[in-house]
Amino acid sequence: MRAEIISVGTELLLGHTVNADAAHVARELSALGVDLLQVQTLGDNGPRLEAALREALGRAEVVITTGGLGPTDDDLTKETVARVANVPLEEDADSLARLREYFGSRPMSSNQRKQALLPLGATAFPNAVGTAPGCAVPVGAKGWVLMLPGPPSELLPMLRQSVVPFLADKGGAVIASFMVRSFGLGEGAAALRIAELTDKANPTAATYAGDCEMFVRVTAKAPDVDAARALALPVVEEVRRRLGSVVYGVNVESLEAVVVAELIRQGKTVATAESCTGGLLAKRITDRPGASQIFGYGLVTYANAAKMRLLGVPEDMLRVHGAVSPEVARCMAQQARREYGADFGLGITGVAGPDGGTPAKPAGLVYVALSDAQHVWLRVMRPQGRYLGRERTRRLASSHALDMLRRC
Ligand code: ATP
Ligand code: MG
Repeated sequence: MRAEIISVGTELLLGHTVNADAAHVARELSALGVDLLQVQTLGDNGPRLEAALREALGRAEVVITTGGLGPTDDDLTKETVARVANVPLEEDADSLARLREYFGSRPMSSNQRKQALLPLGATAFPNAVGTAPGCAVPVGAKGWVLMLPGPPSELLPMLRQSVVPFLADKGGAVIASFMVRSFGLGEGAAALRIAELTDKANPTAATYAGDCEMFVRVTAKAPDVDAARALALPVVEEVRRRLGSVVYGVNVESLEAVVVAELIRQGKTVATAESCTGGLLAKRITDRPGASQIFGYGLVTYANAAKMRLLGVPEDMLRVHGAVSPEVARCMAQQARREYGADFGLGITGVAGPDGGTPAKPAGLVYVALSDAQHVWLRVMRPQGRYLGRERTRRLASSHALDMLRRC
């Protein structure tokens, strides 16, 4: 099966918005083994979109559009696709019912109601997050246009819940998909370890990388679910084996989800003392439902005075080693654990940057410590020639803390 993507939106052409949607769709297509021929970006312009759709349908069986499904006048994707498919727009009863449910007792304008109009013969894709449904429209003998909403927060769930099963079905197969998630390996190193696995057509293995987070999606196609799972699982195991202990889960939501669930299972508790992360670690822990079973105290001790007064870090230690030091990180972890009678204590201190660094302690240098009743462990995040920026440095430091807890 061949596909093309057409992203619609003048904001994309002006450079105000990066075309993240096309990347999301492209990854899913590649995981499904669909050939992506071309990606185009167009402004909110009906005649140009119409021409692009007709040309794309001349080359590919499936054309996927992103954007322009909403209620405003510049949203003209559906009208244009209906013209190309040579069908009228009709109100879709299910989509209207969903819109009514979304608005509840609030009034719904005629513009809003317009969103329930779909080209005749379309299969609706419900929007789990927003108002505008997506849909698949048959065009000609064997062509399809799939329309998806512009906001990535709406497009992503629709892609996974509706588009992937739809395309797998059109390809005469069901798919089984597994996400192997890891923390601690760079993208390059991880990609090397699983190199041959990513060349296969079925199952496919594709990598997605973030800051030290590396995900491998393994997707298998087969006539039924059991056969697809049986194809995928050995590759999932092989990816796990090759990546080793950096893997923190398969089809899990996040590192914090795994850590919190494991602490709940073990009946253990953790307390945190944070400096440069400003509470981000505590936030990530408490983002998880059930966190109160394992977490009661998280301190933000940003100033030295706070480290002394609230945590009891000795003044001498701060003077001799400085607030950003292995000694202070260890002390923060131990004190947080002791003060609050927790099983584990985590301490983070560092230079988030971009200012405030020195040659000895540059921006991006962070010490992360974990303590239990017997031991204290320390990790050092050193910016190896590349300062990541304030936000990513803080995020990465909190991930290291969670990863240390996961491994102990
Ligand atoms: P809405 O109901 O919000 O109007 P829509 O389907 O009509 O949704 P657009 O109006 O095209 O979508 O875009 C809405 C917003 O979604 C844009 O302002 C932009 O922030 C985001 N967006 C649109 N297209 C993309 C894209 N290709 N990549 C990333 N973000 C996008
Ligand atoms: Mg819009």
